[in-house]
Amino acid sequence: STARLSRLSTPFRNVPGRYLARRASSTSQNPKKETSVAHHHRSPTHHHHVSYSETDDAVPWLAKQPLHRLSLADLVKHGRPPLNAEALLSSARFTLSLLPIRLAHRIQALRNLPYIVVSNPNIRKIYNNYQHSLSTLLPWQGRTISNLEDEIRFTEVLAELVNTHTDTIPILARGFLECRKYISPAEVTRFLDHHLRARIGTRLVAEQHIALHYSSSPHFDPSSSPTPCPENPGYIGVIDTALRPASTVDSCGTFVADICELNYGVRPEWTIKGSPETTFAFVPMHLEYIITELLKNAFRATVENGQSKSPVEITIAPEPPSSAVTTTPPVITLSPPSVSLGAFNKDHIQPLDDNAPGVTIRIRDRGGGISPEVLPHIWSYSFTTFSESEDDPPGAWSDDALSVISAASSGGSSIAGLGYGLPLSRAYAEYFGGGIAVQSLHGWGTDVYLRLKGVGRIE
Ligand code: ADP
Ligand code: MG
Repeated sequence: STARLSRLSTPFRNVPGRYLARRASSTSQNPKKETSVAHHHRSPTHHHHVSYSETDDAVPWLAKQPLHRLSLADLVKHGRPPLNAEALLSSARFTLSLLPIRLAHRIQALRNLPYIVVSNPNIRKIYNNYQHSLSTLLPWQGRTISNLEDEIRFTEVLAELVNTHTDTIPILARGFLECRKYISPAEVTRFLDHHLRARIGTRLVAEQHIALHYSSSPHFDPSSSPTPCPENPGYIGVIDTALRPASTVDSCGTFVADICELNYGVRPEWTIKGSPETTFAFVPMHLEYIITELLKNAFRATVENGQSKSPVEITIAPEPPSSAVTTTPPVITLSPPSVSLGAFNKDHIQPLDDNAPGVTIRIRDRGGGISPEVLPHIWSYSFTTFSESEDDPPGAWSDDALSVISAASSGGSSIAGLGYGLPLSRAYAEYFGGGIAVQSLHGWGTDVYLRLKGVGRIE
């Protein structure tokens, strides 16, 4: 069971291992052949009684259930101190009420891809992961998580779910690259934009419960233990209520400079301007992802343009609550609008309130900008101008990406090449109502504006 625990994803690595392992009996120990999926949704007039013997059969029914429109209030409300046993149980029940439907929607979307695409071994692997995760949750449906033993086992299932889907992105990237004869880049981008945005929400819901579970000491006594826990003051689950972007920039900058040193033998520099003391409430994992990708792009361009001596300039500007703004705030409309958000909106976590303070971060490099031929493609998944071999035509959805993907899936980190950095960063930024805009001064450099809305008032 130690091995089992070491597979937990990074944020939870310092989890009290023995604590979980003691209860490590999996739900498969009491298999339920027949699962009444409809139990929770029974209405007084309408008695659905749908039983399924296999996960497969549950999908169409679950996928027809509407997605609950998540709000950040939902995520935060179970984590407000004091976190007692009842709050933890209701968080678990809430999580369980959302996840099977969310997974089924993803499975259905994968099934709707052209058959030849779903038959690709990589896409199939992702499909099977979803089927597997759903099958681990189905035995929990139709029963109530009513004691802490259940909660512990359920949290284990969640941890395994999060872990199962960790490597989704390089695998999907490879799969779609291999299928590029059968599906257009536009279709791929449409699918991935929806899929990866939904994935952000699903992981967030699962990770939030796991984090709440662990926001207690190793000697966890949820009936008395208050949150936030002493090691992580200011956290509510995965949300840091006082996240300082300048610190994120510095730690991600160090990491990306290391990669540059390995790739190019130079360490680009950066400076932080504006208001480095700014803090706001946000999910640190999301900010780290975005900043890392934007710095990779800026550093790569800087080095390749022979400007390693010109530091990348990062300016941090706090945004006052919108109620405090008397003039119209500047609207950034430099990039093409993100793909129609209508379809995703119901998947989106809404800011807790519209007056949540946010932050705008500008990343300015002297990397030569983006040429007009490249610019229209930068938001497409898989589009990259990075090439490891000299004879590969740049700007294509190239085979060269396959070698980068191999590096990525074996845990290595490369400076560029998947072509997922910008579109996925934008998906993260837009999740809480922010955005990303790119302005290129061709021949000189690039400005990237990252605007983030805080997750709102948290008492
Ligand atoms: P990748 O970095 O893997 O190529 P991205 O989505 O991060 O994928 O970026 C797509 C492309 O946009 C890059 O290949 C590059 O051509 C261009 N690009 C992005 N950021 C910059 C920048 N700061 N300066 C110059 N070009 C950039
Ligand atoms: Mg990139």
